[in-house]
Amino acid sequence: MNSKLALFGGKPIREKPFPPYITIGEEEKRAVMKVLDSGILSRFVGSYGDDFYGGDMVRKTEREWEEFFGVKYAVTVNSASSGLYSAVGALGIGPGDEVIVTPFTMTATASAILVYNAVPVFVDIDEDIFCISPEKVEEAITSRTKAIMVVHLYGHPARMDEIMRIASKHNLKVIEDCAQAPAATYKGSYVGTLGDIAVFSLNCYKTIQTGEGGVIVTNNEELAVRSQLIRNHAEYVVGDMGVKNLDNMLGWNYRMTEIQAAIASEQLKKLNALTEPRIELANYLTERIFKIDGITPPVVLPECKHVYYVYSMKFDEEKIGISRTSFVKALNAEGILHWEGYCKPLYMLPMYQNRMVFGGKGCPFNCHYYDGNVSYEKGLCPVTEKMYEKELFFNDFCRPPLTKKDLDDVVNAFYKVLENKDELRNI
Ligand SMILES: *Cc1c(COP(=O)(O)O)cnc(C)c1O
Repeated sequence: MNSKLALFGGKPIREKPFPPYITIGEEEKRAVMKVLDSGILSRFVGSYGDDFYGGDMVRKTEREWEEFFGVKYAVTVNSASSGLYSAVGALGIGPGDEVIVTPFTMTATASAILVYNAVPVFVDIDEDIFCISPEKVEEAITSRTKAIMVVHLYGHPARMDEIMRIASKHNLKVIEDCAQAPAATYKGSYVGTLGDIAVFSLNCYKTIQTGEGGVIVTNNEELAVRSQLIRNHAEYVVGDMGVKNLDNMLGWNYRMTEIQAAIASEQLKKLNALTEPRIELANYLTERIFKIDGITPPVVLPECKHVYYVYSMKFDEEKIGISRTSFVKALNAEGILHWEGYCKPLYMLPMYQNRMVFGGKGCPFNCHYYDGNVSYEKGLCPVTEKMYEKELFFNDFCRPPLTKKDLDDVVNAFYKVLENKDELRNI
């Protein structure tokens, strides 16, 4: 075997790229053709009446999501971001309120709070599963706190028992961002069924997709109705519908098309079959990575089902003696693509650092209804910062159609780079 690192001109472990993740097949094609043949690509109307709830495919798909997840209500939307915005709005969150959220997530999770002029309070994550830490949530609660926004990051459930216990003790609502974790379970229940309202993503990078799309689920009728209103021009509809609570009843157009809904219906049928191989591949990779001193494979807490949207690892620079960046650079040169750090802690984004969101007057942070003094200082969430800056790296290799043989290339690349790590000390 040629052991010269590809980074320095050696032969890479992997010259052929890994096959892409494709979940769209004949079933989706047929379903879309049926919609096209019908000529009805959407049937939503932004006024009160039967079509306020959308066309046949939208409603069919919603009933299927309700059945699959065992929830009373599913509301489709055109993205998980819009779903999160709807969920926060439906809860009646507004100016002066705080919502506790993890900084280690996609921006939309926290932006959903800002959209309603409320203030995101960022709380650090657990070292092992990278989800919001319940102990730190409790410390961050103030008289202004209205809700906790939980993200089941990478496909691993957050510690929901503790979070629900804290929420109930302090009378807070819980929103679950399940964009990365459809079919993950916590003590036998699907994530998304544990809090007050939850959102799934169907964007093109997620386990199942419709290009763009999202689904809100809840067991609370009022939240379902308010989400439907926010999805579809609430302000015009509330009068005819006789809605009394006008909090946040400014609506948008977050409607899913019949084409997306038809695809969503087929994709949901494939969810389990797309998830099981992820778990099997991840278990295989973990078995082999456990043997490498200085690299920690993903942790799975007892009674949790991790669905491995991505396969995350921790890198110990001290133990290994080179930086994560050098390691990842060398791996990537071997044709084994990894990413470092995930995302910048959200409070480090210019919007938070400069407190500039709506207009130029610092709203919602300076809004006179807001009497808190939220911190977005560097150092606020040390575990998140450490993961971003030094320790966390990940791949997306635990997915079909990859095989264990493909994962052997991954492990071989790890060993090859580690055997040659002395050459990487000064790059
Ligand atoms: C993908 C993602 C979203 C946003 O999903 P969209 O459907 O693209 O709006 C939100 N939160 C998390 C954690 C995500 O991974």
